[in-house]
Amino acid sequence: MKVTILGNNSALAAFGRHTTSQIVQVDDETLFMIDCGEGVQEQIQRFGIRKNKIAYIFISHMHGDHYFGLPGLLNSMNLLGRKAPLTIFCPDELPEIITAIFKAGDSQIQFPLSFCKLSTLNEYLVNTPRFSVRSFPVEHRIACYGFLVEKKSRARKINAAACESYQIPFTHYDALKDGTDYIDEEGNTILNKWLTDDGTAPKKYAFCADTLFTTSFLEAVMGCDTLYHESTYLQVDESKAAMRFHSTAKQAAQFAVLAKTKKLLLGHYSSKYREVRVFEEEARSIFPNTFATIEGITYEV
Ligand SMILES: [Zn+2]
Ligand SMILES: [Zn+2]
Repeated sequence: MKVTILGNNSALAAFGRHTTSQIVQVDDETLFMIDCGEGVQEQIQRFGIRKNKIAYIFISHMHGDHYFGLPGLLNSMNLLGRKAPLTIFCPDELPEIITAIFKAGDSQIQFPLSFCKLSTLNEYLVNTPRFSVRSFPVEHRIACYGFLVEKKSRARKINAAACESYQIPFTHYDALKDGTDYIDEEGNTILNKWLTDDGTAPKKYAFCADTLFTTSFLEAVMGCDTLYHESTYLQVDESKAAMRFHSTAKQAAQFAVLAKTKKLLLGHYSSKYREVRVFEEEARSIFPNTFATIEGITYEV
């Protein structure tokens, strides 16, 4: 699973940086978009994102820097004759806004488009045999949600040579993939680990949207492989961050330690900072495996 950053700045575009948007690639066939700030179409083109593969869009909250790119993106998908269905998970207010924009222009979306509400209950928004997505509330000035994307583990892989030498019947192969041992006619147990190899390990990516430094959603993201936590400010602006319901790079790193994650991605930088390396330096003193995200870079989860 991989995350490509399309926009990493906060409210204003600045120093060539755009407002929030990310592409999560679960596998070769499925792309998710998380938030859709202004300029997203140019970024998609620039970084060669296959927009017809975007099956789901998740919008964290109704601040414009997280969804002002959406009407334009939908319009382009429409003009380009998109046929594939698209589902947008978003706050309650968004469907009415999008509908009004298209109605005012007397145009209709021609592909199957559906809107679904976000859940405060850590329920599944999407749940397939290969991946799942859940939302969880974070603490911001207005209602705001984070997302936990999980790529599920692949079944164990059959070791054909071992199965042949132990004379395992083909009819037992599905059970072997699920991890069960084989018991032969004489009652001997042949351990699963002798007959199969490890499948792909599950992966979890947590996107924590715009939020105060808080532990209120710690449980929802605990143990994720990669954590995205906003760092609008540096620690020197801690009180400004708190007043505006944002976090500092140091706080993001402290949260990463508490969440027992393996990798921390930073973003949503204030436009008062020209360089983003300073965020990385501040966070790395507490959580070394931190990356201040850069637009166009793809991060392995
Ligand atoms: Zn924002
Ligand atoms: Zn916001």
